[in-house]
Amino acid sequence: MTTTTHKEKGFTIGVSCPSCGGELELEDNFFAVACDHCGSTHRIIMPDNPPAYIAEVKVSRQKARFAIDRFLKDKGEPLTTSDYQLKQFYYPYWKIDAILFRLRKGVEKRVLVDDHGQEKGVSYEKEKTDISLAPYTTTVSAGTTFDGLPDTLGMRSDYLKIFPLADEKIKEDFDVLSVVSSWEDVRGSLHKYVGAISSYDKNQFGVNKTDLFGPKAMLIYFPFLLFDFYDSDGFNRFVVDGVTGRVLNHITSLNSESSTASPNRTVSIGEIDVVSHRCHNCGVDLPAEESLVYICHNCQVITDLEPGVNIDSISEVVHEKNEHNIMIPFWAFTIKGVDAELLKSVFGGIYKSERIVIPAFKVKNYNALYKLTKRMSAAFPQFSLEQLTKMGRRYTNVDLPLNEALMLIELFAKTDRYKKNSSDKRSPATFQFDKVTLFYAPFHLESYFYVDSILQAVTLEKNLI
Ligand SMILES: [Zn+2]
Ligand SMILES: [Zn+2]
Repeated sequence: MTTTTHKEKGFTIGVSCPSCGGELELEDNFFAVACDHCGSTHRIIMPDNPPAYIAEVKVSRQKARFAIDRFLKDKGEPLTTSDYQLKQFYYPYWKIDAILFRLRKGVEKRVLVDDHGQEKGVSYEKEKTDISLAPYTTTVSAGTTFDGLPDTLGMRSDYLKIFPLADEKIKEDFDVLSVVSSWEDVRGSLHKYVGAISSYDKNQFGVNKTDLFGPKAMLIYFPFLLFDFYDSDGFNRFVVDGVTGRVLNHITSLNSESSTASPNRTVSIGEIDVVSHRCHNCGVDLPAEESLVYICHNCQVITDLEPGVNIDSISEVVHEKNEHNIMIPFWAFTIKGVDAELLKSVFGGIYKSERIVIPAFKVKNYNALYKLTKRMSAAFPQFSLEQLTKMGRRYTNVDLPLNEALMLIELFAKTDRYKKNSSDKRSPATFQFDKVTLFYAPFHLESYFYVDSILQAVTLEKNLI
């Protein structure tokens, strides 16, 4: 619904249009896309295994050499000679996207101070819990240790156009270095990286806990040009970024290169697939909106793009039709084998209904998402639903997959347990979900908020949609 351009997010994936061969540019979390060249619409099928991408080389050997000379000139150092050994290769990195859970718990002390700055003693001590959920992205090396190469792609991966790994994308004279740490290896040691996050944040709090949820990975092969000089002033290696042409590093000795002959790991790589975005029932083109669920405007049959999920009906809240309403999607479901008391404690006043209701659209602010989940769950018993057969323009897109929504519910329950300092034995590690439905509820805009049009009770900030 927003009008932000694709470029703004920076991190894009280029694939070929199956109809005309032109380039389709995709953002993260894409489902469907219209081709700018031929107008046909396609959808992207993501694989179960992490896909592999490659960044294109944008820098020639000459340009890289100039960059090194400029680098040395800026530092007032003598320029390099013409005698060097060049290594050109793509080095693999894992890019990981996850939700970062952080908990800080401890005692907050307030000290009273008199007018002269003298302590008058501790006024009170209060236990304080601070929990936050935030999106988290990192890149970590997937290849063998190589002196001078960065351990991470850092922020650059956010402004990078990458392509599915294919022979024609690999530049001549460039090697593709092998992957030595599999996604399973990296996944198993993710806590190591989040441990590093919490270490710079040591404070007075007694308990710190940091965890990553729902990690998703992709492999990115990034090009580098390494110039090794062996002249009178010894060994000098310059590492040049093959995309921007920047000199990333200058080292004068080698430490770990003897271990380069690490065994190649077999890494299962998934392939993304681009197919026509059509109704599976009647074949008519579906709208190129980034949604997981469509009701065909021609035959009214539901197309559900989330793998392993099958929605057989979609509902909407019975309401008076009004042109000011927009229809916002929510997932509703029950949790098997969990007593009502636990859910009540987590989700507030949902005891009248056993349903948990969570937005079916992405909300970057997890605390806002949690609040909205609580409010909608509480409001749900007061809605009556009817089957939806036609979806118009006012129905906003479903882009939070059910599986992610379920993971978030578990995360909310966990957060709640931490807050209450309970190791509640009644709640299982993994919930079993039941009676899953998708429904739309009418909301209308009131200055900075969307307000639900039935109860006038649930509000969400305008910019969340
Ligand atoms: Zn095309
Ligand atoms: Zn159809």
